[in-house]
Amino acid sequence: MKYISTRGKAPKLAFDDVLLTGLARDGGLYLPETWPKFSADEITEMKSMSYEQVAVKVMLPFVEGSIDEATLSKIVDETYKVFKGDDPAPIKQLGDNEYVLELFHGPTLAFKDYALQFLGHMFDHVLAKRNETLTIVGATSGDTGSAAIEACRDRDAIEIFILHPEGKVSEVQRRQMTSVLSDNVHNIALKGNFDDCQNTVKALFADTQFRDSVHLSAVNSINWCRIMAQVVYYFWATLKVASPGKPVSFSIPTGNFGNVFAGYVAKQMGLPIDRLVVGANANDILIRFIETGRMESKDVFETSSPSMDIQVSSNFERFLFEMLDRDAEALSALMDEYKATGKFAVSDALMDRIRGLIDGERFDDDATSKLIGKVYEDRGYLLDTHSAIGVGAAGARRGNTDIPIVALATAHPAKFPDAVKAATGVRPELPDFLADLMDREERCHTLDYDYDTIKGYIETKLKGRHKL
Ligand SMILES: *Cc1c(COP(=O)(O)O)cnc(C)c1O
Repeated sequence: MKYISTRGKAPKLAFDDVLLTGLARDGGLYLPETWPKFSADEITEMKSMSYEQVAVKVMLPFVEGSIDEATLSKIVDETYKVFKGDDPAPIKQLGDNEYVLELFHGPTLAFKDYALQFLGHMFDHVLAKRNETLTIVGATSGDTGSAAIEACRDRDAIEIFILHPEGKVSEVQRRQMTSVLSDNVHNIALKGNFDDCQNTVKALFADTQFRDSVHLSAVNSINWCRIMAQVVYYFWATLKVASPGKPVSFSIPTGNFGNVFAGYVAKQMGLPIDRLVVGANANDILIRFIETGRMESKDVFETSSPSMDIQVSSNFERFLFEMLDRDAEALSALMDEYKATGKFAVSDALMDRIRGLIDGERFDDDATSKLIGKVYEDRGYLLDTHSAIGVGAAGARRGNTDIPIVALATAHPAKFPDAVKAATGVRPELPDFLADLMDREERCHTLDYDYDTIKGYIETKLKGRHKL
């Protein structure tokens, strides 16, 4: 399998190179040259398989030429054995034709584990094969940082530096990062806000000499390997809730659109998906786009579902490329316009096509809280703030509502205990393996928001670890 960039001006790459590259050199995002397809019979055969077996079946065509089946199977088994329970992604029924897919049974209790744990193992395998090392630098406002640290801890070929804004992440979120004491993990609390963290990371990537000397890489959802691992649970859920060949819809609490795009990929591979429903908080750029055909960024609001507080959905570029029949020139023109003016508009014909696949609904914090309260009252089921938006959005879909719909539950309620308590009166407990989180030793360095200070800190640490 070869990969092409959405902007059409970067070299075609094999899976290994796409894995290590992240963003394409022309500023675009990589995706497979063609979509592998499964027949209805092949999909039905997956019904008797374990999660791990489905994962190998679904992902093998994407790594073909880079990784063989036995190796992929070993990596998948190692990845999902750290997930709690027999089924890494259990389904719960909430009502007639209404289901929740629990994607919070990984080590950091958010759906990002399903892809990042796999990415960590993949990095390990490819780096060992090539005898290379990698430095990962990332900024986090909460969830991504801990999932990335858990995925990369104790891996010899990787050093990971995660910047978070000092005092601006929740205590659970901070401790999930800083209590990992592995030698290759470096937490930095920056005296600034999340934008300062992100600007620092961008500046480090723009510093080409630094970037090349330390083999800098990223773990954000522009990395194709993450999307690929997320396609798996769309197959898994469909096999569980629908009779063979029958359609199913999904509802997805959305930020960067990586998860929705994975659902779109599953559909291209032959899964009979009817609608993909985007759930948003007050940061509703995608909902406004679906309504008006105009993409226009605004300031970011802080909400009770912080992992969806985004200004731009970076993965939407892949979807738009597809909707434009992979016309890289047309896509580049829209992206250039967006960069220059902060907005772009698309034709009515294109919007008809997009609306044929996706719906969307927004929920502010108040509505989200009411949803959590109502689902608890009616069903006795606790939702976190993100998952509640998924469940709420399921009710907003158009088309045939007799089709089963699966809402993706992207975080464990105990990750956002205050919001859940306020909505239901119940304080959700952390699972046993995290019960002592509040007593664990922490390690973290506080640094000023100053480029040279931060760069110098990273270089010193890398020298100490004999990586520079
Ligand atoms: C990251 C995240 C999201 C948003 O997912 P995208 O793929 O960026 O759209 C939703 N919920 C939770 C809990 C998250 O951590």
